[in-house]
Amino acid sequence: MRVFHFDGAAEEDVHLDELYMQEALRLAETAFKEDEVPIGAIIVSQGKIIGKGYNLTERLHDVTAHAEMQAFTAASNFMGGKYLKDCTLYVTVEPCVMCAGASYWTQISRIVYGAKDEKRGASKHGHLYHPKTEIVSGVLEEKCADLIRSFFRNKR
Ligand SMILES: [Zn+2]
Repeated sequence: MRVFHFDGAAEEDVHLDELYMQEALRLAETAFKEDEVPIGAIIVSQGKIIGKGYNLTERLHDVTAHAEMQAFTAASNFMGGKYLKDCTLYVTVEPCVMCAGASYWTQISRIVYGAKDEKRGASKHGHLYHPKTEIVSGVLEEKCADLIRSFFRNKR
């Protein structure tokens, strides 16, 4: 007897999203160890990680060195083109206005983020993403938020 799970595909997507977010979290943990605001990002295309980044604003003395910006650059280099079609960005914290704007130019297919950024998140400023970009939030939200919280707790 065959059993059909009609929502099987959706469940698999959720599982994959968590798996990839785990990878982004590992990068965020590296940032944490380097005393950077702990945010990590990866870009996945057809089951393959084609770009990675974590926040490096302190090390590079560069306010634009957000995790997403580096992942975009790496992924575009890999793709050999500026558009990131059929790609998904996984980032542990909601993108800021700058990174949402950069994602617009890439026309990336999906953005999956973990924790919301109540102060600097792009969603506070209307819809800045490309109309073709699907946004998913709240994947491993607690883990992503915990890392940020413990970072700033140590700073006080
Ligand atoms: Zn940003």
